[in-house]
Amino acid sequence: MSTRIIDLTATLRDGIPVYPGDPPFRKSWHTIYEEAGVNVAKLEMSAHAGTHVDVPRHFLEQGADLLALPPHLFLGEAIAIDVPKRPGEEITPADFAHADIRASDIVLFRTGWEERSGTPRFFADDWPGFTPEAIDALISKGVKGIGGDLASVDSPAASQNGCPAHKKTLAAGLPIFEALTNLREVVGRRFFFVGLPLKIEGGEASPIRAVAILAEV
Ligand SMILES: [Zn+2]
Repeated sequence: MSTRIIDLTATLRDGIPVYPGDPPFRKSWHTIYEEAGVNVAKLEMSAHAGTHVDVPRHFLEQGADLLALPPHLFLGEAIAIDVPKRPGEEITPADFAHADIRASDIVLFRTGWEERSGTPRFFADDWPGFTPEAIDALISKGVKGIGGDLASVDSPAASQNGCPAHKKTLAAGLPIFEALTNLREVVGRRFFFVGLPLKIEGGEASPIRAVAILAEV
């Protein structure tokens, strides 16, 4: 048996759209080879730029930070579920009532928003999020993490309303994987997901290089 690796990560580059109000992503040169004999980049960014993971410290003052969370929380058996959504629509329990979700799965949702990845349209319109009932249903299934091709797990309307999807998920101790791409390549399949964060003391989120590892018979 061999494996195939699908990259689920958006490209970080100057000018990529970021969450409204967040600082822009900027890569500049601290030193360049021409002058100093070595290239050293300087990165300025929100911890939520591009494909990233949120951990409890994001919304809970005493919540676990990246240092407190072991690597195994950010990888494992996963399933990707196709839930096509238009602007203003939410992910509800009915969307995954018949999905093969198992305890300890990392559950990823493809709404189609990934088609906007890397464009200003990613944070335009009312992106889809999760209803509080959907989060409750996933937590009660014993899942290990949730995520998707979403700009945020809370829609703009839910964000105005205190970000219930973030708060419920993080209070349950589950990582949230946001702004994944290429989920179209893995919907309906089971695979091994890796979305490891950087080890940032006090960190509430981190960019990740997310991949799906598929077993090919
Ligand atoms: Zn985030």
